[in-house]
Amino acid sequence: MAIERNGVILIDEEGRRSDGRKWDELRPIHIKVGVLRRADGSALVEMGKTKVLASVYGPREIHPRHLALPDKAILRVAYRMATFSVTERKKPQPSRREIELSKVIKEALAPALILDEFPRTAIEVYALVLQADGGTRVASINAAALALADAGIPMKDLVTAIAVGRIGNYIVVDLNDLEDKYGDADMPIAMIPVTDEITLLQMDGTMTPEQFDKCLEAAKRAILEIYDLQKEALRYRYLQIKKELMEEQSK
Ligand code: UDP
Repeated sequence: MAIERNGVILIDEEGRRSDGRKWDELRPIHIKVGVLRRADGSALVEMGKTKVLASVYGPREIHPRHLALPDKAILRVAYRMATFSVTERKKPQPSRREIELSKVIKEALAPALILDEFPRTAIEVYALVLQADGGTRVASINAAALALADAGIPMKDLVTAIAVGRIGNYIVVDLNDLEDKYGDADMPIAMIPVTDEITLLQMDGTMTPEQFDKCLEAAKRAILEIYDLQKEALRYRYLQIKKELMEEQSK
């Protein structure tokens, strides 16, 4: 039986989602590391129609100075949506949602970073949503982790994130905007894949303990898939740098 919410068919008779995906299918993912010249690190991540550009500056001097910590760097994160990223123009002033998401993303990234190597400095991360179609916080985490690695910030590992959720009895992975808005539950999750640590887990909606377990399991599988793509994009970046250096030397 099809599942309809607010006049939108979220799951059709054949069990396919509004964009034709199977329950555990990810949207096409494209990743590019090192896309900005002026930033110390940067990455562009596309998860379906959701596109996020992350940039990292630092470690660098802190202003105002009194915020400096004597034993480690401070991490600053700003998540913003471009005014043109959503159908209805987004007001340029930071909204409550953007301020909250900046905090949530910072807390998801911090456990992976080795901040005590750079006392009295700041590491600044900007995640700019260029186009939003659900899952912008998880795409921001995926992009920011890569931009931090690209900036050469020492890390335990990357951080990888995905949103999972529920539509009726269906568990769905990598929610689009419609599923996020009209689905019965959505649960963004971020993990440090090598340590299996969960650094972000939020939930909007309701689930049974069994559905929660199934969501977590599906999220872990998706995270490993995305993690492989993140590593591949980093590897490609380093091969590119090596090529540029060799060309430079042969001049
Ligand atoms: N959204 C929007 N306008 C806004 C904020 C969000 O259209 O001002 C849409 C956007 O597609 C976003 C989705 O709503 O991806 C879900 O937003 P949510 O707050 O759940 O965060 P996200 O899923 O993007 O992490």
